[in-house]
Amino acid sequence: MERTATFKKDQFEQFFCLLKSFGKVFAPVRVSEKSFSFKSIESPSQIAFEALRTILPPKKFFFQQHEPILSYDENGIHEVKPETQQQVIFGVHPCDLAGLGIMDKVYTASPPDPHYIARRQATMLVGLSCMPDKHCFCKSMGTDSPTSDYDLFLTDIGDKYFVQIHSANGLNLIESMPDFFSRPEAQEDQTFKDFWTTRDKAFSSHFESENLPAIMDMEWNSQVWDDLGNRCLSCGNCTPVCPTCYCFDMVDVASLHANRGERVREWDSCQFVGFAKVAGDTNFRPGPVDRLKFWYRHKLHGFEDPHGLPTCVGCGRCTESCPAGIDDIVNVVLRLQGKPSILVTDKKKTQAGGCGTSCGDCQCDTADGDQHA
Ligand code: SF4
Ligand code: SF4
Repeated sequence: MERTATFKKDQFEQFFCLLKSFGKVFAPVRVSEKSFSFKSIESPSQIAFEALRTILPPKKFFFQQHEPILSYDENGIHEVKPETQQQVIFGVHPCDLAGLGIMDKVYTASPPDPHYIARRQATMLVGLSCMPDKHCFCKSMGTDSPTSDYDLFLTDIGDKYFVQIHSANGLNLIESMPDFFSRPEAQEDQTFKDFWTTRDKAFSSHFESENLPAIMDMEWNSQVWDDLGNRCLSCGNCTPVCPTCYCFDMVDVASLHANRGERVREWDSCQFVGFAKVAGDTNFRPGPVDRLKFWYRHKLHGFEDPHGLPTCVGCGRCTESCPAGIDDIVNVVLRLQGKPSILVTDKKKTQAGGCGTSCGDCQCDTADGDQHA
């Protein structure tokens, strides 16, 4: 059974010191008026506790945007060992924990990825409760409570945090400072339950997801895909921001004399025109309609693979970051289901010829050792 504890919010500094004893701490930091990014921090005063979705999800800590896998020279081929550090990712919301759960399935399946696994094993995940905004729909995807692997999860219950302890690492940390934590009193248990009941009622974006795979099969030739795809700019914004987009390309970077070089893994996007291009100049998904439909299918239906699950966790990042206003997943699903829309996106159709975003956020997320979007 999961264990629980509480500590006073005004003693967060001590809790932070405890986290630092495990490793380098990363947490959401405000990087512009409206955006947040997971960054290395030295003090709790840097944490943006109010952050909902960061520009990039925490997958960037494990599945890096640019990563040498092997190198070669006159002496042969050398495997590049993953660089790891003990680290704590603080402030991970339930949708992002679920996203990491899906990434774990993908990158630990046979053959397991040693780089991903080494980083995951060196990391403590500390979740934090949140209240949904108009783009959040994790409730629809069943990812609105912390159920995947995490170490500690903090729920805000007023002047205290209610701590769920979910791993041996988490328990060891709590037990290393027994006087700091208290056993929850009956009233605090109730306040914890009330928080999650209130949160459950706070979602304004919602759809019934039970029939999603069937709907996606049935509506494969729907006009919806043409309407959306013909407005898609193929900018690829929707994939790096997605907690569960895991595709990559392999690039060989040779020296001028070609006597040494590196094989590098880099994030790729199924929305890019070259993603499905193969020898003979054949492209299996030549147009944006094909590519957008493919992406939506992966997110909402899942592939016929051992995982076989929808991979959307309802974080709303793609909705917020699509410059053409077409990744409004809630309204797309409602339209496919033949139901009235419930949310009007504030994005306008953007002309092709540039991604069209005005936020500049991908630049923000390059700083401080973070991975570029
Ligand atoms: S598809 Fe969109 S809403 Fe769903 S997990 Fe990915 S970024 Fe979040
Ligand atoms: S973010 Fe929007 S415009 Fe860009 S590739 Fe994705 S769906 Fe198309």
